[in-house]
Amino acid sequence: MLTRPVLVLSALTALALTVTACGGGAQEYASVVDKAQGDKKLVIGVKADQPGLGLRTPDGSFAGFDIEVAKYVAKELGVEAKDITFKETVSANREAFLQQGQVDMVVATYSITDARKEKVSFAGPYFVAGQDLLVKADDTALTGPEQLNGKKLCSVAGSTPAQKVKESYAKEVQLQEERTYSACVDRVLGGQLDALTTDNVILAGYAAQHGGKLKVVGKPFSTEKYGVGLKKDDSKGRQAVNDALAKMFSDGSWQKALQASVGASGFSVAQAPQLERY
Ligand code: GLU
Repeated sequence: MLTRPVLVLSALTALALTVTACGGGAQEYASVVDKAQGDKKLVIGVKADQPGLGLRTPDGSFAGFDIEVAKYVAKELGVEAKDITFKETVSANREAFLQQGQVDMVVATYSITDARKEKVSFAGPYFVAGQDLLVKADDTALTGPEQLNGKKLCSVAGSTPAQKVKESYAKEVQLQEERTYSACVDRVLGGQLDALTTDNVILAGYAAQHGGKLKVVGKPFSTEKYGVGLKKDDSKGRQAVNDALAKMFSDGSWQKALQASVGASGFSVAQAPQLERY
């Protein structure tokens, strides 16, 4: 017969086992490489409302350049597209999703920054964008960041463009932070706010989506290097994802994917960037 302390102990052990099992696959593996090989499945964090980059389509699937990058990298790690679960992320929850193991990887217009590197790892960059402004098509006054004085500007919480506005333009600008960029687009279209600021490639997608109503100012004022976000200190994962990106650049898939997704918005397709392995 079991004594009471032993019963309590086994109940606790059972609970601990259940928690581990329910905690999501990412936590059980040291590297995304092991997760991909072990489970043959990956959960990848992407944006769901950014045309050309990461967009949830009416049938519930995802499309865009980030999605193509995610699929290519997953395939190189041994996971087929059908075995990827795409999970919507917004700018503010990407680090937390990786830290908590809610996703194995983030491919979501995610700029590599030193501050973020304290919480997560990055492979890449696989694209370089620049912060710009999106205004109504008939706005002739706002032609660059130097004209922001007194303007009502929208951006997204947890994004580098919002951070830059707070650091560099806080005195002259009224910043409204939304959860998603599409919420900002609605407010600019509705005339409540003067402009949306984020990366030019994202803005080009919205300008194309709302043909003739919105335009990108076209004076980028930052450098945004998009990386694939991984769990902090996953150096094995970083190396494998960098190898996958190098292959995507060299076999023509990168150019093809970019042209088919972002190219549709009229955004001119540049050369593949230099990988920054660290
Ligand atoms: N690339 C910038 C960032 O990572 C802006 C785009 C975004 O919010 O996803 O914050």
